[in-house]
Amino acid sequence: MTEKHYGGASSHGMKDKAPQNKSEIAIKNTKDNRALDINEDDESDDSQLTLKDIETLKKVGKIASETIKYAKSFIKPGMLLLEIAEKIESKIIELGGKPAFPCNLSINEIAAHYTPSYNDTEVAKGLLKVDLGVHISGLVADTAFSIDLENSEENKKLIEAAELALNEATKKINNGIEISQIGGVIEKSIKSLNFQPIQNLSGHAIEKYDLHAGINIPNYDNSSPIKITPGVYAIEPFSTIGLGKVRDGKPSGIYQIQKSGNPRDNFAREVLSFIDEEYSTLPFCSRWIHKKFGTRGLVALRQIEQAGILHHYSQLIEIGKGKVAQAEHTLVITEKDKIITTL
Ligand code: MN
Ligand code: MN
Repeated sequence: MTEKHYGGASSHGMKDKAPQNKSEIAIKNTKDNRALDINEDDESDDSQLTLKDIETLKKVGKIASETIKYAKSFIKPGMLLLEIAEKIESKIIELGGKPAFPCNLSINEIAAHYTPSYNDTEVAKGLLKVDLGVHISGLVADTAFSIDLENSEENKKLIEAAELALNEATKKINNGIEISQIGGVIEKSIKSLNFQPIQNLSGHAIEKYDLHAGINIPNYDNSSPIKITPGVYAIEPFSTIGLGKVRDGKPSGIYQIQKSGNPRDNFAREVLSFIDEEYSTLPFCSRWIHKKFGTRGLVALRQIEQAGILHHYSQLIEIGKGKVAQAEHTLVITEKDKIITTL
């Protein structure tokens, strides 16, 4: 998934989260949602990942890249997006991970955040972005590719631009580099093929159970002096033939717990408790709730949303209705090194 900006601000309230803002149920469980300060027991720098974390990050990255290979092997024009999403999410589980968020399958000018509903009838066509995430114990791999399903030269070029930008950006990123320099190579790569980068979508730092944490990695040179520090980052260039910006579209059916609250209805509380236990602060979707609880679950989900507990992601639409391609990898940046976990 990706991070959208409204004039520099974060796309939702998660940035301000403090322990007291978390779901009351979330406070009761033992998961450490604040993480990356998972080192606090030893005396070392608390921003550093442990070796065990890095091993887990490599493992989820490997599961993600295997799943991408699998997806590329079976996706054909005309297939139900619902079937594609279910096969991808099942594969992640079969390989020993959990989906870190619902599989995003966004077509043409929908840049991101389309996931099929339980009764979705949309089929694969045009320029399809496949964006998937894997986690183990909240440690995440986030990766995406684009596929041309209509034999279009323009689609192929757009995909080439996003992949070139990702390749150049992964070469450029290092501990201590300014994020604007990474944005700069992304912008230059995409413009070299006469397309536009999407300026209000960006890559992002990833922390434990926090998909969009702290630092953003822009898709253009935004002149920010902020520097990369050791941690986990997703880089995700978006190229378009449109105007280079997205707006909010329809509600996506993708949600995330964003603050505390208690729905009055008992069953809604049961569903919230399941969400908290199963997904913690990672994104989930109405399709998953339907699978577990049926139609009743969807009613409960609405009640939980109305209680203000959830952030509901919007689909993201290119403002010029231009087609959009995306490529994404997750990297671990250490003091002196980098590992692309999803290669
Ligand atoms: Mn991402
Ligand atoms: Mn993603």
